Amino acid sequence: APEKEKTSNVAKIKVVVRKRPLNKKELAKNEEDIITTEPHSNCLTVHETKLKVDLTEYMEKHGFVFDAVLNEEVSNDEVYHETVEPIVPIIFQRTKATCFAYGQTGSGKTFTMKPLPLKASRDILRLVNHTYRGQGFQLYFSFFEIYGGKLYDLLNDRKKLCMREDGSKQVCIVGLQEYKVSDVETIKELIERGNATRSTGTTGANEESSRSHAILQLVVKRSADGSETKPPKVVGKLSFIDLAGSERGADTTDNDKQTRMEGAEINKSLLALKECIRALDNDQGHIPFRGSKLTEVLRDSFVGNSRTVMISCISPNAGSCEHTLNTLRYADRVK
Ligand code: ADP
Ligand code: MG
Repeated sequence: APEKEKTSNVAKIKVVVRKRPLNKKELAKNEEDIITTEPHSNCLTVHETKLKVDLTEYMEKHGFVFDAVLNEEVSNDEVYHETVEPIVPIIFQRTKATCFAYGQTGSGKTFTMKPLPLKASRDILRLVNHTYRGQGFQLYFSFFEIYGGKLYDLLNDRKKLCMREDGSKQVCIVGLQEYKVSDVETIKELIERGNATRSTGTTGANEESSRSHAILQLVVKRSADGSETKPPKVVGKLSFIDLAGSERGADTTDNDKQTRMEGAEINKSLLALKECIRALDNDQGHIPFRGSKLTEVLRDSFVGNSRTVMISCISPNAGSCEHTLNTLRYADRVK
């Protein structure tokens, strides 16, 4: 079928690594950049420097290969081109796609994710208004977060939400505000609003955002010809997930009980996510999405004709070495 041909040349799973530049603080401390990349190559090397007992320094090298390695000189436009751009057209061919940003707090997840939905909506709206003009396609926008295993609407005063499955096994988030959008200006405002709501959280502490998964969804729907009364049907979905800081999954030994519980939930969801993506890649019939709230919410994006892009964000400084290696190992397993 022509539909199949159009979608099949976009990789089912793509794993890319993005390295951010050393920041001012790291430069001021004279921290070493331990990540090397080569131009036009998808290889990356971590130079782990350790001090031996006899005080001679040695280098232990860790080499990795991914679908793409984006170094500190790569712009957000290029990131979009490499990751989400190829997926946009197939959203109109009944595909559900998800783009994740994974990595430790401060590695560049939000910096990387923030511009992507805007660029994608610009391209989606171009298809709706020009290429497929008059064919009844519409774009819808929603933005929520998962915090401590619970769902909150980021565009409706952090209203608590619950999830259920409808008769056709579609995920339905009860009470979630969905905005019908037709211009990029509105979308820009919604993204700003959601991100602002997220980082303030309930306590007003900035670090709250590193403990939550933010989920922004662009849904393309279509109304039956001339039908104004029937609700439009979902055609495709593009989800952008700014994951909780990967190091938070290790908070399970913290003194604070609340922090421990949140850490356990994050750990569970990141492990479940890895298993779901792997199952997707192996075309396994059974997808272990029940492992966490995150994977349950994404359930309908893990079955059938779906696409996944994982952007693994890494910090270049020597002090982040352990976290960086953990992130690269996770990405390697997903691949
Ligand atoms: P995270 O969301 O993973 O905690 P952020 O996206 O907030 O991390 O990034 C941490 C800091 O590093 C921010 O000040 C951000 O602007 C900066 N940063 C991240 N990635 C890049 C990049 N590729 N180029 C320049 N600055 C970056
Ligand atoms: Mg962030």
